[in-house]
Amino acid sequence: MTRRIWNFSAGPAVLPETVLAEAGENLLSLGNTGIGICEHSHRGKAFMAVAAEAEALCRELAGIPDEYAVLFLQGGASLQFSMVPQNLLPADRTADYLITGAWAEKALKEAKAIGGTHVACSSKDANFNYIPDNCAYSEKPVYVHFTSNNTIFGTQFTTEPAGVPDTAFLVCDASSDIFSRPIDIRRYGLIYAGAQKNLGPSGVTLVIVRKDLVESGNRNLATMLQYRTHADNESMYNTPPTFGIYLMLLVFRWMKANGGLASMETRNRVKAAKLYDYLKQSSLFKSTAKPGSGSLMNVTFVTGSEDKDNAFVKAAEANGFSGLKGHRSVGGMRASIYNAFPPEGVDALVEFMKDFEASA
Ligand SMILES: *Cc1c(COP(=O)(O)O)cnc(C)c1O
Repeated sequence: MTRRIWNFSAGPAVLPETVLAEAGENLLSLGNTGIGICEHSHRGKAFMAVAAEAEALCRELAGIPDEYAVLFLQGGASLQFSMVPQNLLPADRTADYLITGAWAEKALKEAKAIGGTHVACSSKDANFNYIPDNCAYSEKPVYVHFTSNNTIFGTQFTTEPAGVPDTAFLVCDASSDIFSRPIDIRRYGLIYAGAQKNLGPSGVTLVIVRKDLVESGNRNLATMLQYRTHADNESMYNTPPTFGIYLMLLVFRWMKANGGLASMETRNRVKAAKLYDYLKQSSLFKSTAKPGSGSLMNVTFVTGSEDKDNAFVKAAEANGFSGLKGHRSVGGMRASIYNAFPPEGVDALVEFMKDFEASA
């Protein structure tokens, strides 16, 4: 087998090795069915059991109450940018958006095409290197949309935004930090996440949504774009992304076996602290996120010199550290260290950075 290298990719991202090994075996035959996981009918007994366990474990891990639907959709988080307002934002009402990065901007753009929007706060003035403390909400927003972790800019909300008006429910794009820590579902109307960072492969999107919102949503939409279609059919109105759901099931089992979301958080905090602590005292590298806003999932850093950044990325690549080049809108480096990223890989990166700094 090829030696696996340290993969710091922002997404699709590293998955637990035990999950990949098990999935590999079941590609040829799911259990003793003699039919591979990708070859089973989504209406058959074997896959129905996979889907049911995936939903049950998802509910168990996050403590999702019965009043919420759990949906496995397609189209990525990017389709949710528009499905959310299409279903839930009446044309004559306003939704508030917290603009903390490029994904939030894209979400806002889609809402603008549907109804009224209001930017309650923005950190664009500093190239999104911080999470704003205060928001100025509109008078009666239908919902308040925020991006819990800003994958590109390496910032993260430590908790839900404060002061959300009573009229509004919270909507969260949690694509890059979902299930990286415990979550109080009842504080939300809807949470969505593309799977490819913390939950599984690309091609499946998890949506957790209050059932009354599903019920009261806009009916004047294409069937596939209505949440009710998927809620009424247990995400099987059409052929669901069966392999993606299966892999999510294996990741959920892995999370449960490793202590659930509280343990994920502890593990993630330890991993991120190693990098931030080193960055704090380094004379070569520095964190780009403002103190207090740094993400536990995507740690962004620079040397201050583009040439040195490039030299570092190149040297890292040659030494088995992949995916460290930062997004072009930030430059520098980004280490994405989602749930499944092994702690040993973070230790190895810090050692490598120390050596690079010493020889620079
Ligand atoms: C990756 C990402 C997206 C885009 O997800 P797709 O599944 O590619 O549409 C949206 N929001 C955030 C926060 C992301 O990290």
